[in-house]
Amino acid sequence: MQRRVAGRNFLFVPGPTNVPDRVQRAMLVAMEDHRSSKFPELSLGVLSDLRKVFKTTTGQVFIFPSSGTGAWEAALTNTLSPGDKVLAARFGQFSHLWIDMAQRLGYQVEALDVEWGEGVPLERYEEILRADKRHQIRAVLACHNETATGVTSDIAGVRRALDAANHPALLYVDAVSSLASIDFRMDEWRVDLAVSGSQKGLMLPAGLGILGVSQKALGAAAQASSRRCYFDLADMIKANATGYFPYTPSLPMLYGLRESLNLIFEEGLEAIFARHRYLAEGVRAAITKGWRLTLCAKAPRWYSDTVSAIVVPESANAAHVIDVAFRRYNLALGAGLSKVAGRVFRIGHLGDLNELMLMAAIAGAEMAMLDVGIEVTPGSGVAAASNYWRAHDLVPRQKVSREQQFYEAHSTGSIQG
Ligand code: PLP
Repeated sequence: MQRRVAGRNFLFVPGPTNVPDRVQRAMLVAMEDHRSSKFPELSLGVLSDLRKVFKTTTGQVFIFPSSGTGAWEAALTNTLSPGDKVLAARFGQFSHLWIDMAQRLGYQVEALDVEWGEGVPLERYEEILRADKRHQIRAVLACHNETATGVTSDIAGVRRALDAANHPALLYVDAVSSLASIDFRMDEWRVDLAVSGSQKGLMLPAGLGILGVSQKALGAAAQASSRRCYFDLADMIKANATGYFPYTPSLPMLYGLRESLNLIFEEGLEAIFARHRYLAEGVRAAITKGWRLTLCAKAPRWYSDTVSAIVVPESANAAHVIDVAFRRYNLALGAGLSKVAGRVFRIGHLGDLNELMLMAAIAGAEMAMLDVGIEVTPGSGVAAASNYWRAHDLVPRQKVSREQQFYEAHSTGSIQG
């Protein structure tokens, strides 16, 4: 089947997300000297503003020219020494890949296998930490939002488990698909290493690995003997102090980041989290009430507000749904990865988006499912999402009623034109 070319492509993978027009325009810049006396205005501003997004006043944020995976590596190699003990849980492709990286870097990983569809097992973490009387575990890893299964874990709970065990290990959190979309509180949860990337909630192309580091982790970096060079925090700290980078930074990405931070502060972080919850609830209504399908996430406490993984009936192959959606309807849905390949497709609902954009994803997924023989009721997903969004307010009522007054003034003829 030939892919359609007319009309826009509907991008609903859970990253990269749609880049807002304002950010795209901000990125269209001529190259300039990154060692000029003016450059620090840009770099110091974004470095300082990123701290607000991580909700940290005491930590330091670093920007690497990499994807999120580079920030994972920076977090581990700057704070650990070969052979150090790491506690982690595997419940999806991204938590798996982080464990795999830690093993390949030479750390001793105690990896807890958890059913895909659940999240960080807090009780098992606490038990293991309590049993580690000699405090050999140096790092506790937690994936805040497992993008492969659409599962959000309780990071405050991981901190509580560490505290209950009175354990001094550093807390590492993968916030790649949660930062700037799901509430993340670096200081309050005493997260030591918070890993993220540019292409999700920050609404930029991939290309920046972003890392929040606590003072405690910066202290550990001085003792950590893992080999590192390009990702060495010490080089970054030295250069960043005056607003520069140890190597050539990507100017369009930094200008784009400046504008995306402007957009984030204009909407407000809390309003962004509320919008993501509200949009996610509509998508979940489409899946469970409309299509009568199930989410990969096993229970509501795991539901992710940034991505939903939808389990297709046994007789169907989710890869076919994705392919038909792409070729026939110009809709990009997220694939099922690794263990859940063919079993799930994903709708990313994060970043710069609203109800009607998501309606396109829901309608397109519904059409593609029908095309491959999955018996969902035509229109049922759209109807369920619509019912949810119409019954719940995102925009405060007062604002709606002012708009209503404006509309009434027009329709009664008291405003001409
Ligand atoms: N962690 C999570 C939760 C992710 O969703 C991703 C990418 O989708 C990564 C890590 C890896 O990030 P990147 O692809 O930017 O290297």
